Amino acid sequence: MKEKVELNGIILGSYPVRDYDKRVVILTKERGKITAFANGARKMNSSFSGITEPFNYGTFSLYEGYDAYRFAGGDINEYFQEVKNDIEAICYGSYFCEILEYLCVEGIGDADVLNILYLSLKALEKKIIPNNLIRRIFELKILALDGEMMAAFSCAKCGETNVSAFAASYNGLVCPECEKYVADAYPLQESTVYTIQYILSSPINKLFSFNIKNDVFDELDHVVGTYFAKHISKNFKSLEILSTLS
Ligand SMILES: [Zn+2]
Repeated sequence: MKEKVELNGIILGSYPVRDYDKRVVILTKERGKITAFANGARKMNSSFSGITEPFNYGTFSLYEGYDAYRFAGGDINEYFQEVKNDIEAICYGSYFCEILEYLCVEGIGDADVLNILYLSLKALEKKIIPNNLIRRIFELKILALDGEMMAAFSCAKCGETNVSAFAASYNGLVCPECEKYVADAYPLQESTVYTIQYILSSPINKLFSFNIKNDVFDELDHVVGTYFAKHISKNFKSLEILSTLS
């Protein structure tokens, strides 16, 4: 074991291992995704049991090992208790964590990715905008941060700046002229085009600050759903649970 380090982050997942221990996956600002073993965390009265729950945001003390860390404690700044008390919010929060556990690389820190997770959990807690809108904002932005930014500011086929439809085959938006020739073009209202551009161009702290009309949401839902499924072909457990709720 090397020396003790203090890392800031959010717990993405917490899994039982052996009889009394937990394997904890933490998204940290300094080192990206890391795995830590919390020995005895499942024993009654363990000081680690509350600290090692998913969504917890804080500073974690860890001993660095060869291929994993050993959990030594933590100061939690946010437990996101309002999210944990609401089964639908838990599903959405877990879904965001699952995506990041899947996409993030061990050892590479990224403050933006941690920040978007934090603000998504905050948005689930505040309940000002609908959960399914928070989901679509998160998905579109996280793909952009992961290097798969949707082409939305000029036609993905010809480069013309006036865009009017989504085409999955071109990974983005296309202009009115190209729309006529692209087989899978899905026409969009101007407000939907603007919403997509807003999400892609806004700083992370402005992302969860707007609401949209139902018909605009329906288009955004279709576009981001199609785009996300094209880039991430994985079944997420939390979405399966979510679909059984309604
Ligand atoms: Zn075009």
